Amino acid sequence: MNETTICNKCGREFMLDKQRFSSIREGDFVVQYFSCPACGERYHVFTSDKEMRELVGRRTAVQAQIRMGHAKKFNRKTLRKYEQELERIKRKQEKMMPTLKATGEKILHGEGGGQNA
Ligand SMILES: [Zn+2]
Repeated sequence: MNETTICNKCGREFMLDKQRFSSIREGDFVVQYFSCPACGERYHVFTSDKEMRELVGRRTAVQAQIRMGHAKKFNRKTLRKYEQELERIKRKQEKMMPTLKATGEKILHGEGGGQNA
């Protein structure tokens, strides 16, 4: 991954390589983030709780089943069932995402900051 990004806080451009990424665990929540090498500002990537991690696991499993189903030419009804399951998981994740992100931002930046762009 050779992506670069620019820090909103100090304007420094930096590479988004593996070392920049880290995670914090707080209770049931795991917050993945990357941080600026110059000023240490933390940027939210993904926050999960136990339920979200289960959904991520299930989604990976269902996607593997769909791929296998296509390769081995499962009947359409079976494939359709997997695809519906995948859609259900995605919708649930999308619904959970805003709340988890807000929680993650709070964990990263502390409560009461209140000046988020
Ligand atoms: Zn910075």
